[in-house]
Amino acid sequence: MSDFYAIAIDGPSGAGKSTMARKLAETFGFIYVDTGAIYRTVGLACLRAGIDRKDVEAVMELLPTLEIAIRYNGAGEQRMFLNGEDVSTEIRLPEISLCASDVSAHQAVRSFLLEMQRKFARENNVVMDGRDIGTVVLPDARLKVFLTASAEARAKRRLAELLAKGESQSFEEVLRDIRYRDEQDTARAAAPLKRADDAVELDSSELDFDETFAVLCELVITRLAVEPEAAE
Ligand code: C5P
Repeated sequence: MSDFYAIAIDGPSGAGKSTMARKLAETFGFIYVDTGAIYRTVGLACLRAGIDRKDVEAVMELLPTLEIAIRYNGAGEQRMFLNGEDVSTEIRLPEISLCASDVSAHQAVRSFLLEMQRKFARENNVVMDGRDIGTVVLPDARLKVFLTASAEARAKRRLAELLAKGESQSFEEVLRDIRYRDEQDTARAAAPLKRADDAVELDSSELDFDETFAVLCELVITRLAVEPEAAE
């Protein structure tokens, strides 16, 4: 058993996991680990290599050539490195979401990335978000949350984020991508997206940011018996 606290936040794409997890980590002085960014980095590598990312043999051949690293900058922000290059911005492109979803269906990819994720939790207090954190990566996490929202509510929020970044996509395109990823993430044989039996399910469709965050803070305080760090 690790001496550190782990909080696992799983759920479908666009449910607000990363925003919530980042804010929780900041509030309680934990490290935030965005595991989707790791799958995105593998997705980007496949795209750059021009291989068919549904072809497991081709993906498996590529994996040993990849050096993937997570580093935190001075502001405590997670940055992703692929063979030494900072790819943190590029992995956020909408097409990389689909690449990530495709490669993440391969058990070989999941196994390749498992130890890297577990190591963080052995050495730090973490808030880790993903699809299989409570079920596979950190089954002993002290608190597990399954954060969901309707596909429409998630598409609406994702569209607002994209527009704020100056990227143009229609609501229908965003909704279609979300449904594609829901379908793939839930239906795959390897670590499918599902709520861990001991996870607390929180549906944020009708909740705003502050309401959702308040519920999560209360869970952390009661389950982990920790208090928010005093603001500097
Ligand atoms: O969370 P994010 O949308 O960045 O994740 C990108 C993709 O990576 C997801 O659609 C999902 O298929 C995959 N993923 C996963 N397991 C995780 C995190 C992400 O399969 N723990």
